[in-house]
Amino acid sequence: MAVRRGLGSFGVVPTTSTSSRRTVISVFAALGLVVAAMVTLGATGLAVKPVNGQALAVLEEVPGPESGPTCAVDKRYVDEDTFGMRPDVIEAWNAMRAKAKAQNITLCVNDGKRSRGQQQREFDKAVERFGSVEQAKKWALQPETSMHVKGIAVDIQPLNSASWVDKHGGPLGWCRRYDNEKWHFEYDPAYKTAGCPALLPSATGN
Ligand SMILES: [Zn+2]
Repeated sequence: MAVRRGLGSFGVVPTTSTSSRRTVISVFAALGLVVAAMVTLGATGLAVKPVNGQALAVLEEVPGPESGPTCAVDKRYVDEDTFGMRPDVIEAWNAMRAKAKAQNITLCVNDGKRSRGQQQREFDKAVERFGSVEQAKKWALQPETSMHVKGIAVDIQPLNSASWVDKHGGPLGWCRRYDNEKWHFEYDPAYKTAGCPALLPSATGN
């Protein structure tokens, strides 16, 4: 799922000046800002600027296989098979899904298990896009660190279903982990008794 931010407003061109020439210059200055912003967008394809002290957004969730059936409650998402996830995780997922269903909430697996190759391809794309491994690491995970590759993470959609899990998943071992990913949950049986850990800013540690 793409998370993008708009450019925001550039503000109103000052009109208090009595000199029309100065107003014209202001207009051109504003246009210059827009052009500069567009050039930046062209270079990275992104409409987001890192802000000091703020977590970087995960720009695009790594897509899983596109072959999953459409999510029954929201056609924008798929509902992948849990194949390849750790067996105890699949069992815990099925238990939570049944509990949600009993409360008329449908949980779709928009992204579950990823292969190492799949995660590596996505990371390689990020390297291409951001120009270096160091930069790419701020936006994408390598196979060694992805909980989807480990088979213990599920990206749940639609978001109101994810928020049900945020409220009720802890005692079932499912916790949201990252402030910037409302849809990403990880399973750990220890959460059932210890409760969910504090949210981290993002999966990439930024
Ligand atoms: Zn995820």
